[in-house]
Amino acid sequence: MTAGLFRLDGRTALVTGASRGIGEAIAARLAAQGARVLLAARSVDRLEAVAATLRAAGGEAAVLALDLGDREGIERSLGALPDGFSEVDILVNNAGITRDNLLARMKPSDWDGVLATNLTGTYVVTKALIRGMMRRRWGRILSISSVVGLMGNPGQANYAAAKAGLIGFSKSIARELASRNITVNVIAPGYIATAMTESLPATAAAELAAAIPLARLGSPDDVAAAAVYLASEEAGYVTGTVLNVSGGLYI
Ligand code: NAD
Repeated sequence: MTAGLFRLDGRTALVTGASRGIGEAIAARLAAQGARVLLAARSVDRLEAVAATLRAAGGEAAVLALDLGDREGIERSLGALPDGFSEVDILVNNAGITRDNLLARMKPSDWDGVLATNLTGTYVVTKALIRGMMRRRWGRILSISSVVGLMGNPGQANYAAAKAGLIGFSKSIARELASRNITVNVIAPGYIATAMTESLPATAAAELAAAIPLARLGSPDDVAAAAVYLASEEAGYVTGTVLNVSGGLYI
């Protein structure tokens, strides 16, 4: 075991939406701390490229095709985890999508799609993976919400509802699972520079930065550092919290 804080040697982590952005950064940081990391998303090709990068850096990684919008598919995928990665100790519910529109124009499919991927998918994956954590009496469950789930945002009623839902879900199961030594926490990022935010026009990005006390958009690594802490042994007395990683956008 390598000395140092927040080591994750001997732990297996599953990160959803690990093919890019925040999920990729979380997977890389967990692997660098010594965890075996199972990278999950719909596109296996992109995941294989991420896994190769983690292995080249000395980490252990495997990939898993998982579509959070497909309930039976999730159960099938999680029932056949790759050898050496079948006992998931750390679950990071990161994958998420947006389908923004003002409520008056929001299509039922935009509502259903965002709730299915961002909230129901988390319920299905978490329910399947807590069994092993309960048996082994150790677990870490992290979900990536958003400050939008705390503050609301015009044009994002579906996304904000799903992200607020993740908080209620996590606080409830934090209470259910504490006696089994499983902690459940939420990270609420502010504006993070990823594919999700790169479609913003430059002027909008500058206006956003001006509204953030730390005066910059966050990086995926800012979020990944918080995830490493909450996944660690050292965070064993922290459960049911929402860690706001937003540069002070939400205080
Ligand atoms: P991204 O769009 O760059 O990446 C999303 C990831 O989720 C990708 O790997 C994608 O393949 C995966 N994914 C999407 N739909 C999926 C599905 N049905 N099944 C499986 N995987 C699926 O997004 P990001 O910016 O890295 O965001 C990651 C998380 O952080 C999301 O939950 C997002 O809501 C949240 N978040 C992002 C920001 C931000 O500013 N970027 C802010 C707050 C919260």
